[in-house]
Amino acid sequence: MSNLLPTIGLEVHAQVKSRSKIFCRCAVEFSNKPNINVCPVCMGFPGAMPSLNSEVVKQAVRAGLALNCEINIVSGFARKNYYYPDLPKGYQITQFKKPIAERGYIILSNKKRIRIRRLHIEEDTGKMIHDQDEDTLIDFNRAGVPLIEIVTEPDFESAEEAVDYMTRIREILRYTGVSDANMERGELRGEPNISVRKTSDSPLGTKTEIKNLNSLKAIEKGINFEIDRQSKLVAEGFEVASETMLYNDKKQEVYPMRKKESASEYRYFIEPDLPDLVLKEDFVSSMKGTLGELPEVRRERLIKQYSVSRDESWILTSEKTLADFFERSVANTGAGKRIVNFFIREIPALLNEKNVDAEKLLFTPEDLNSLLREIEREAVNLNSAQTILKRMAQTGESSEKIIRDLNLRQTNDEEKVKQLISETLAENQKEVERYRKGEEKLFGVLVGFCMKKAKGSVSPASINKHLKEMLK
Ligand SMILES: [Zn+2]
Repeated sequence: MSNLLPTIGLEVHAQVKSRSKIFCRCAVEFSNKPNINVCPVCMGFPGAMPSLNSEVVKQAVRAGLALNCEINIVSGFARKNYYYPDLPKGYQITQFKKPIAERGYIILSNKKRIRIRRLHIEEDTGKMIHDQDEDTLIDFNRAGVPLIEIVTEPDFESAEEAVDYMTRIREILRYTGVSDANMERGELRGEPNISVRKTSDSPLGTKTEIKNLNSLKAIEKGINFEIDRQSKLVAEGFEVASETMLYNDKKQEVYPMRKKESASEYRYFIEPDLPDLVLKEDFVSSMKGTLGELPEVRRERLIKQYSVSRDESWILTSEKTLADFFERSVANTGAGKRIVNFFIREIPALLNEKNVDAEKLLFTPEDLNSLLREIEREAVNLNSAQTILKRMAQTGESSEKIIRDLNLRQTNDEEKVKQLISETLAENQKEVERYRKGEEKLFGVLVGFCMKKAKGSVSPASINKHLKEMLK
């Protein structure tokens, strides 16, 4: 509707994988029982002292390195002061002036580079629950759960780019094991800030920030709604107010929640109960060795090693667990087109249908490997392989047992194939007559009859060959 240019930045919060909270020993777990993982530190009792969880530091450094950031050897903690019912201390401990990592970047799938301004460590707040009696309840299990916040420069020009960025971040956090980054569980949250302007030379417009976007779909809808809303305001000569907006998932609309705070309103000051965080140089360099193969590097390698297309490499690397499953399944085979294609066609669809991760399948990559070997040496045909795979997924039985039980092994034993063909011909005299009188198209029909009788036990090629001879 408008020809205004949107400018978008993103703040992403990711929950760091850790057994305990950031400043106390309370457990971090996804649980339905409220207020069971709490103590004087995360409840903000006077006099309780925070002590930093070293696992969180390690994971933040790893995330920083994976996002091409510079790691700050010295960083510090600050108090961000505001009053809200889910914040028992009345302030949040975060990193303000000096974050643990800065100046990184990420490459989108369209090859565009998005600059990362900073990555810092902070604690999560509690959670407010508005129940059906219109009471507001508070669960402090989440208070003090470790987070990293990743802030980009305003480098996005569309909702699609922002969604792609979230997907890339999720991928990297999962590949490195920094976070499970499950959006439904709130382990990965994105808050876009948006402004519009007339041309790329005009100064940036007033920005708003959207909260409460709990899925990629919501991020896309929310951003597009806000771009439209701001564009209409500007087109009609109004000004955009600097506000924090809330996304309503049911209506797929965005509406103002409060005036946007500026940093000075939080009255940041240095956290007096925590010393500066000082890292050793060799600790940082040792973390580089723990990152493993990152998704983009893995895609490039899969393309080279297995001759898959770029699109196929994206499918295979969509989850680290799937890529691992693939490589273990085709290990020690020729990894030819036949079995690689079978994997790409069947396994992602199966995971989708069962809505599980590759690790949760009833069969292992080693089980699949033995089926792929059977396909490779044409001991079972692709139709049978599909049947076998379905049954493996349902029962967890070995492919060997299923092949035996269902009698699906193909034979190229000449006597057996001829026997099968002559039985089929005897049962279909009429078609045989017509073929011999010149109706050549009936050849295909007769192949079909043989295949049906063979139930996958004979390869089509060998039926073809012998049938032709026997019809002469
Ligand atoms: Zn605690």
